[in-house]
Amino acid sequence: MSSQFDRIFEIAEKNEIDPVCGMSVNPDQPSGGSHLHEGTIYYFCANSCRIKFSESPVYFLENFGKHGH
Ligand SMILES: [Zn+2]
Repeated sequence: MSSQFDRIFEIAEKNEIDPVCGMSVNPDQPSGGSHLHEGTIYYFCANSCRIKFSESPVYFLENFGKHGH
């Protein structure tokens, strides 16, 4: 049981979450590139996500992490 959790944790550690669509992105090879906002680099699954984020980063960051409610 613990090994399964370890594996999930390992995957989560290696990947960044695209704040626009919530997909996990490999920060070594982000399909949509990256964007620096207030000292934090965000990674994107697609160029369209990166463009949306760059147009209104505050909107996506405010909604990011509010899932489930
Ligand atoms: Zn995306």
